[in-house]
Amino acid sequence: MSDQHSHQNFETRAIHAGNTADPLTGAVVPPIYQVSTYKQDGVGGLRGGYEYSRSANPTRTALEENLAALEGGRRGLAFASGLAAEDCLLRTLLVPGDHVVIPNDAYGGTFRLFAKVVQRWGVDFSVADTSDIESVRGALNERTKLIWVETPSNPLLGITDIEAVAGVARQAGAKLVVDNTFASPYLQQPLALGADVVVHSLTKYMGGHSDVVGGALVTADAELGEELAYHQNAMGAVAGPFDSWIVLRGIKTLAVRMDRHSENAAKIVEMLTQHPKVTQVLYPGLPEHPGHEIAAKQMRNFGGMISFRVEGGEEAAVEVCNRAKLFTLGESLGGVESLIEHPGRMTHASVAGSALEVPADLVRLSVGIENVDDLLADLREALG
Ligand SMILES: *Cc1c(COP(=O)(O)O)cnc(C)c1O
Repeated sequence: MSDQHSHQNFETRAIHAGNTADPLTGAVVPPIYQVSTYKQDGVGGLRGGYEYSRSANPTRTALEENLAALEGGRRGLAFASGLAAEDCLLRTLLVPGDHVVIPNDAYGGTFRLFAKVVQRWGVDFSVADTSDIESVRGALNERTKLIWVETPSNPLLGITDIEAVAGVARQAGAKLVVDNTFASPYLQQPLALGADVVVHSLTKYMGGHSDVVGGALVTADAELGEELAYHQNAMGAVAGPFDSWIVLRGIKTLAVRMDRHSENAAKIVEMLTQHPKVTQVLYPGLPEHPGHEIAAKQMRNFGGMISFRVEGGEEAAVEVCNRAKLFTLGESLGGVESLIEHPGRMTHASVAGSALEVPADLVRLSVGIENVDDLLADLREALG
């Protein structure tokens, strides 16, 4: 993060980092530089370092500076999607023969990337319960180069102690990567807890309005950031100017949105825990959640994602999803509008039969920022 913003509080950085007034016109918001190439003042005479928009684009630069400032990192990089960011990270850090520890609960697409793509290139992985430090230690071997953590995890809302796993990674000479999509940098700062790289699907809370797909990497170390930037350009899955602009716009309200997401979720959790048709509520804000204390220590609040299990198995869970009206039936998460889904048949269909399989009676909510009374009424109706 540049020194200019390091003393500022999160909400201020979210609005100002990377958002310097346009030098040409004074526009207070970075313009959408919808351009592929740049006039040079003589051969090699680049203006501000820009030559071609895969390598760098001013709107993307604004977002990348903002991302670094929000995570307290040295370098931010924006990609066409969360998975494009993950792919770039894995192909930069790993070579055939390397080994990775992945969590037993993770975004289905992340697991698919490891199991169906990366593994074909001679990188193998072990699955660990990252909420259990002994399980992480037990999954290591002398070839382990990377430990992957997602906390809170998707869709089971498991909590991993980032600081503790960072210690294990350091001892093992491996890098710790944290997927911070569910928490957002407002609620959780993995780099400050010892992570080497933070991954984001910008599609979710960062964009926040279900209108863009994007991804990001933020590094604590400038040198690793440079290496990733080299690969970002060499591989080419960059965020376009318009997508960068719309994410940057969304981020300005991230703090107030996350406060409301968390507030609404807490009230919905309270209702669900008392509902006779609900057999279990998975939410790190609940005192009985096994990761509650760690979540309270490393998160500012508990966020807007809730999973719960219903009486009556898979059919009943699917029914609840189908009956909801205000909660839109759909994949993805983190938008201002509330979403409901059945992970087993939707977002996590790709992990069926693996160590990451999710319970069939599970329903996942992405709680939006609508009036919570309307959300409660809709859920009561859907539960019957
Ligand atoms: C959505 C998601 C991703 C993948 O991001 P895309 O933008 O869909 O490619 C990765 N991790 C988590 C936790 C996600 O929710």
